[in-house]
Amino acid sequence: APVPEPAYLRGLNPPQREAVLTTEGPVLVLAGAGTGKTAALTARLAHLVATRRAWPSEILAVTFTNKAAREMRERVGRLLGQAVEGMPWLGTFHSVAARMLRRHAELVGLTPSFTILDTDDQLRLLKQLLAAADLDEKRWPARQLAGLIDRWKNRGLTPAEIDAGEAEQFANGRGGELYQQYQDRLRAVNACDFGDLLLHMLTILKTHRDVLADYQQRFRYVMVDEYQDTNSSQYLWLRLIAQERKNICCVGDDDQSIYSWRGAEVANILRFERDFPGAAVIRLEQNYRSTPHILAAASGLIAHNGGRLGKTLWTEAAEGEKVRIVGVWDGPEEARRVGDEIEAHERGGGKLDDVAILVRAQFQTREFEDRFIAIGMPYRIVGGFRFYERAEIRDALAYLRTISQPADDLAFERIVNTPKRGLGDKAVAKLHQLARAEGIPLALAAARILGTDELTPQARRALGNLVGDIARWRDMLSQLSHPELTRQVLEESGYVAMLQNEKSTEAEGRLENLNELARAMEDYATLGDFLEHVSLVMDNDAEAETAKVTVMTIHAAKGLEFDTVFLPGWEEGVFPSQRSLDEGGLASLEEERRLGYVAITRARRRCTIIHAANRRIYGQWTSSIPSRFVAELPDQHVEAETTMSGGESLWRAQWSEHADPFAHVGRSQGRGPGWQRATAAGGLGSPQAGSRVVEARASAVSFAQPPRKDIALGQRVFHTKFGYGAVAEIEGNKLEIDFEHAGRKRVLDSFVSPA
Ligand code: ATP
Ligand code: MG
Repeated sequence: APVPEPAYLRGLNPPQREAVLTTEGPVLVLAGAGTGKTAALTARLAHLVATRRAWPSEILAVTFTNKAAREMRERVGRLLGQAVEGMPWLGTFHSVAARMLRRHAELVGLTPSFTILDTDDQLRLLKQLLAAADLDEKRWPARQLAGLIDRWKNRGLTPAEIDAGEAEQFANGRGGELYQQYQDRLRAVNACDFGDLLLHMLTILKTHRDVLADYQQRFRYVMVDEYQDTNSSQYLWLRLIAQERKNICCVGDDDQSIYSWRGAEVANILRFERDFPGAAVIRLEQNYRSTPHILAAASGLIAHNGGRLGKTLWTEAAEGEKVRIVGVWDGPEEARRVGDEIEAHERGGGKLDDVAILVRAQFQTREFEDRFIAIGMPYRIVGGFRFYERAEIRDALAYLRTISQPADDLAFERIVNTPKRGLGDKAVAKLHQLARAEGIPLALAAARILGTDELTPQARRALGNLVGDIARWRDMLSQLSHPELTRQVLEESGYVAMLQNEKSTEAEGRLENLNELARAMEDYATLGDFLEHVSLVMDNDAEAETAKVTVMTIHAAKGLEFDTVFLPGWEEGVFPSQRSLDEGGLASLEEERRLGYVAITRARRRCTIIHAANRRIYGQWTSSIPSRFVAELPDQHVEAETTMSGGESLWRAQWSEHADPFAHVGRSQGRGPGWQRATAAGGLGSPQAGSRVVEARASAVSFAQPPRKDIALGQRVFHTKFGYGAVAEIEGNKLEIDFEHAGRKRVLDSFVSPA
């Protein structure tokens, strides 16, 4: 009698099955959006475990987000009809590498309890180094150096491998030396940044054959989702590990490569076939996600890119609606319109969880937030102001880090005078001196300095209390649960009292957040586990919640799907972004187009693209013109609608007739005849479209992010949402502001006025 088919194979099409059943040797699955790549990878994992080809602990599986890893774990459990015990090596590159590095930390001069720095800490450290090197931070911003070091790390380059040409990119050739100092400093405080997780592991695998051999033996199978977005150091790491057994399966889609700005290299796809000769290449062509119109619209858009690997996509889904293109007057109308439609969707029995608004840039979410708050629409912002980024949460975490990791100088620095306890800059500077002179952590220097007469009596008393408290809390770590300890620490340190004394609604919100923090910790066995979790929560991770509309960036939406998708802001200068236009390269424009492809293919049944004729920029209204991508969508699959005086389809026709992708690149260049004629013909749908031609040009320029002349460092300003604050940092049109109530935030200068 025929053996019944295992559950995990049911419903899979022939090439998907091939991807699941070709367990031995290298496999590359190259396929378009929604063709079941992730589904096949999940089934493959189930198959390997079910057929005892490997224990769960012998499979290395890399997903793009922690959420995706969680889902995969659950789905494998369901497919196998039992919970999967321990899949320690299923996770993001970062989480898997962190776990690995903790086992071998000594080999790169760290201890297993090393801290993973966030960008804030990273910047603080770099600023110190720049100051010590006598470099003017205005001329050579820490952020720029951070970006550069990140890129080097993404390419797998250690300081020793930075040549003069590379170093030239910062402070007249001092880039390499600063990189080295940064790495030394990280080691001294027993910390590493995200890039280090892979770079250190790479170094270890390259220099310790026994460690490499151990992992090559351990991992019988290696699998990678969203392979097109791996960077060089990730690729090299995978290649080393998989080199011995060669059972590596990567799935990806070159058309969805959207992280080259973070070092991802789509060339890794070609590299794979070269490094793993004889790889089985499997193509999936049936799309199970979207309706034919949505699929055809997305395919039509991406067809404008050159140098694609190319693929066919088809679907059996019923016809469905065309992709809607809606022109609105301005940003508020855009938000109103989307809000109204979601309310109608709800009245019609639709679920809010099925709806997503996907934006090109973070700043676009504000308009929707304001509207949703006004109409009481539940929403979640994914990747916006994240919980763990809030000032009070970071303070609380710094206390906990100081307790669990005595060498964590950055954490100690953050809390030493928060709440204010009379330890001014002078006292802190003395601490630093001693710490440097003795080569010891700040916390230790603090204890030692008490035995000297370096400090004023007041400062000495304050520091003595703090040092005593920290020691006591450290002892309590073994007696109290970590959520209890957290509450205690926040009380005893005076942090809670500080907020209570503020007597503001903001402070109440902060206290609630701190409560929430203690609640969140309950899910973790140890304080160490929790701190590890926090440092790994990445910006593209969503927490599961109930019925809410999702607002997120397209980048964060990768791999996800929603019934109904709204895509606002499809205007030149927003999407494609002004930065991509300014850079002027075809490559950056093509990456924007891939982003458009990812955006449309998130939709299962309904996709609405919106562009506004006017945007408020720097407090001024400027006209904007619809995105060239709108014109590139194939006519027969879209349905244009405008709330204004029409002209939409005329505009589309003219743009596509004349548009030459090369002619538009760069804002100073002409936009081609299509643009001018279309605008003059009333394509913007505005009553005085003709007179707006000049303004539309101006709008493109004003997106170019010139810093505002009326705002200076240290100045007091007012922000429409966060209130009063002082400017702490200026980077182009972005400001870091220390708000009096909202803490430090990064905002666009257009929402700020001098106070
Ligand atoms: P993306 O490129 O966006 O990551 P993907 O190729 O990973 O997409 P999946 O997310 O795995 O695609 O699948 C898309 C949808 O199709 C999911 O809802 C999935 O459950 C469904 N699906 C996948 N394979 C099949 C199949 N053989 N039969 C029916 N539905 C399927
Ligand atoms: Mg996928």
